[in-house]
Amino acid sequence: MARDTSCIFCDILAGRAEGTFVYRDTVVAAFMSIGAVNPGHVMVVPVQHASSLAELDPAIGGLMFQRAMTLAAALRTSGLRCEGVHLLLNDGRAAFQSVFHVHLHVFPRFRGDGFGFLLPPDFTRHRPRRELEEAAALIRAALPRDG
Ligand SMILES: [Zn+2]
Repeated sequence: MARDTSCIFCDILAGRAEGTFVYRDTVVAAFMSIGAVNPGHVMVVPVQHASSLAELDPAIGGLMFQRAMTLAAALRTSGLRCEGVHLLLNDGRAAFQSVFHVHLHVFPRFRGDGFGFLLPPDFTRHRPRRELEEAAALIRAALPRDG
């Protein structure tokens, strides 16, 4: 997809907006998040604009994940407070995506850092098998034939 002129991440990648990069090649880049959950919060992004997972070339998605793994390892040895690492990709407004240029959050976690997920009131650890089977059948039917 062509560059979106209203995209802040495209602006950062093009040098039109300030960014603090920790990595960059021709396909994938990583820069510090201005809205960091914890110090060391990095965003891994495709260099070419893609607003959602559906628009992202899966090969580039794979490279983003590889880069996120390398960054996660770096966070653990960086000296920043890091007892664990979160990889998080919000795809769609309902999933809290706020910048519509695909980005994979990589950020350090530690006990008591205040970050968390709210679970639905009906959350149970063991969903009925029938519900799992029904959902699995719908997902399998929606998968492309090559998997
Ligand atoms: Zn963009």
